[in-house]
Amino acid sequence: MDDRRKKRCSFCGRAEDEVPLLINGMNGFICSDCAAQADSIAKEALKKAHKGTQLNWEELPKPREMKEFLDQYVIGQDDAKRYLSVAVYNHYKRLMQPEDKDDVEIEKSNIIMVGSTGTGKTLLARSIARLLKVPFTIVDATVLTQAGYVGEDIESILSRLLQVADYDVEEAERGIVFIDEIDKIARKGDNPSITRDVSGEGVQQGLLKLLEGSVVNVPPQGGRKHPEQKFIQVNTRNILFICGGAFDGIERKIAQRLNTHVVGYGAVKQSVTIDRSNLMQYIAPQDLKAFGLIPEIIGRLPVLTYLNPLDRTALRNILTEPKNSIVKQYIKLFEMDGVKLSFDPEVFEFIVDKAVEYKLGARGLRSIVETIMMDVMFDIPSGKSKEFVVTLDFAQRQMAKANLSRLQTA
Ligand code: ADP
Repeated sequence: MDDRRKKRCSFCGRAEDEVPLLINGMNGFICSDCAAQADSIAKEALKKAHKGTQLNWEELPKPREMKEFLDQYVIGQDDAKRYLSVAVYNHYKRLMQPEDKDDVEIEKSNIIMVGSTGTGKTLLARSIARLLKVPFTIVDATVLTQAGYVGEDIESILSRLLQVADYDVEEAERGIVFIDEIDKIARKGDNPSITRDVSGEGVQQGLLKLLEGSVVNVPPQGGRKHPEQKFIQVNTRNILFICGGAFDGIERKIAQRLNTHVVGYGAVKQSVTIDRSNLMQYIAPQDLKAFGLIPEIIGRLPVLTYLNPLDRTALRNILTEPKNSIVKQYIKLFEMDGVKLSFDPEVFEFIVDKAVEYKLGARGLRSIVETIMMDVMFDIPSGKSKEFVVTLDFAQRQMAKANLSRLQTA
């Protein structure tokens, strides 16, 4: 055919036989390659446009609304919810602050949450992230080591954030990072650094730079395995850090502090009685210092809050109350097989008993329910019954049958 009479893509000019597919338009053609490229350009542009409207004053949930949202997913922990809501709200306000207006600069209020494992620290952080339209990531402080040692560099924290922000630096720079197990990088012992403290104080020093806000060279893939890759510069000034840790044994430090206060010369007689069964509620920055966090780090985590140990009632509620509670999830799973699942109320008490007995906390609830439901979940999809009621007797039998040592290490 005459070359000039061939149909051509109006974008790249290639002829019909040179492209995978040519699509007809009113006054021209587009090849599938150009269409795909146009699609990604459009997506990128729309994302940018959308971003501009994301932080909108009117749409910003107020602290009270944030707490109400958290209430749907997290049982109890009212204090932590309030602190978190206010800190996150202020974080947003800070991001929206016009840069040059006056010289009152709102400082970042990073957060530290102290509470036994399995009391909802991660769940709180995760839930608040759902509400927010900012990139969010969870990192474990235990994998971090001082630069040059085996383990992950501090910068890897930001690599993760960049990943979830689709490598959009601007977006990542206003994200939220949850650093779990911050207590594990506490200084061991009171004697600072006789030998090199690779996973303790050194890491805290490194972390300090991120917390206070600095420009960090971040390896995009997060490791030293790709020496050829270029660094991406990320400014951590606007990144909100939420730290969490169990701080096992910190109650002793709190008790010590509370005691010395009342005994000391001229001490005011304490008017409020101390609730010795839950000392965590009195936590103060100096307790973190006594535990082994360096003062500079503590100074950079001005919002300090705590989580209560979960009692029986809390565990019982966790089973059924949250929007996506464990029980609701199983009911839904069965529903998809056309089976109506229900539980006798005594079963819940039994599950809580077991969780307490094996000291599994909230995390154990799921494995216990899983153990009870295993056989039914195996059989029901191929069976004919349209209903299943979990009775106490059934639950007890299933638990007795199960290999309990498996649960204990769960
Ligand atoms: P932490 O970070 O404090 O160690 P997590 O937040 O990871 O504990 O909690 C572990 C699991 O236990 C969560 O996924 C959730 O299912 C359950 N859980 C713990 N605390 C609560 C709570 N207060 N409300 C609802 N569920 C909870």
